[in-house]
Amino acid sequence: MLLLTPGPVQTRPETRAAMAVDIAPWDPDFGREYTMIRERVRDIAGGMAGVHATLPLQGAGHFVVEAAIRTFVPSAGRILVVSNGAYGERMTRLAREAGREPVVLAVPDTRGVLAEEVAEALAADPAISHVGMVYSETGSGVVNDPAAVGAAVRAAGRRLIVDAVSAFGALPFDLKAQPECDVVLFTSNKCLEGLPGIGFAVCPMERTRERAGLAGSWSFDLGDVLRHAERSGWGSFRFTPPVQALHAFGVAMEAYLAEGGQPARLARYTENMRVLRAGAERLGLRPYLDAAHQGPIILTLHQPEAPGFTLAGFVEALKRRGVLISNFYTTPTPTIRIGCIGAVTPDDMRFALGAMAGVLDELGVTRRAA
Ligand SMILES: *Cc1c(COP(=O)(O)O)cnc(C)c1O
Repeated sequence: MLLLTPGPVQTRPETRAAMAVDIAPWDPDFGREYTMIRERVRDIAGGMAGVHATLPLQGAGHFVVEAAIRTFVPSAGRILVVSNGAYGERMTRLAREAGREPVVLAVPDTRGVLAEEVAEALAADPAISHVGMVYSETGSGVVNDPAAVGAAVRAAGRRLIVDAVSAFGALPFDLKAQPECDVVLFTSNKCLEGLPGIGFAVCPMERTRERAGLAGSWSFDLGDVLRHAERSGWGSFRFTPPVQALHAFGVAMEAYLAEGGQPARLARYTENMRVLRAGAERLGLRPYLDAAHQGPIILTLHQPEAPGFTLAGFVEALKRRGVLISNFYTTPTPTIRIGCIGAVTPDDMRFALGAMAGVLDELGVTRRAA
């Protein structure tokens, strides 16, 4: 089965095979492996040894996003959330339910936020301490620019939280160039092509240390994750980790570095997207985003307005042809979401396009070449 969802993503056979072992998390061999994973992840984030730390948290991406909000935004504090899609909305909800006060900066999901819009919103409300943003909005596929937004945040003397869950490892990020950034967030599973199970926060240590004990949750306190590492060692965990997923993540990291790291991964995903987008247009499927705003992570297409078409029917028929895509959409109008990330290549995209052509015929959807 070819998995074309923007998380969980298709993984390499050697990454999956690495799961099939028993490991004790306190074993020094695993501790060394885990310490190296933390250092590699920090380096990919543009973090510096002794200044920044990788703080892993068991669970899904939402968990580590919530942990970041609880750790860095003061309780009852105000966070400006850039919202141009489902994940911005999710960050708003996580902040509200954590007792923080989200202020929503609503932006259409068809373009990235402008730095001036963030600057204006911050100037209008001095009580906002943080800006939360999603790097790659996995709803529509639009990309926001953390360096540009970060510059506005820095100029306003505020702090930045970046949900880079669907971007990290493919789109560039340089923590040392963004001193306003409290945390960049991602998971084992998306562009780093590991198995799901663990979230990562890369943070400046000094600020994180100051925030320990203030999250209102022991589980979601990144300051406590750091404190534990400093007391018990970088190879240690507070609570039982998904050891197999971490071990497999180490294997996925080897493949990441062997491929050429971030530039190589971005190039492959961009080519995946280009082939898929051009092919979909040839099938008469209209992209949701203008080419200028199209990110490399996920392609969103308008659902064809044809009597025979339902998303569920399309997804089921594609699955019978060996391709699994997302079975839901989060854009205001009905769309089809196809991931361009994971251990997949442009040839896989060509295969998927062949399957899509067959399915459209099967459903009786007339193919109007664009
Ligand atoms: C996938 C994703 C998440 C986290 O999703 P989980 O299902 O909780 O792992 C968060 N933000 C973005 C932008 C994502 O794409």
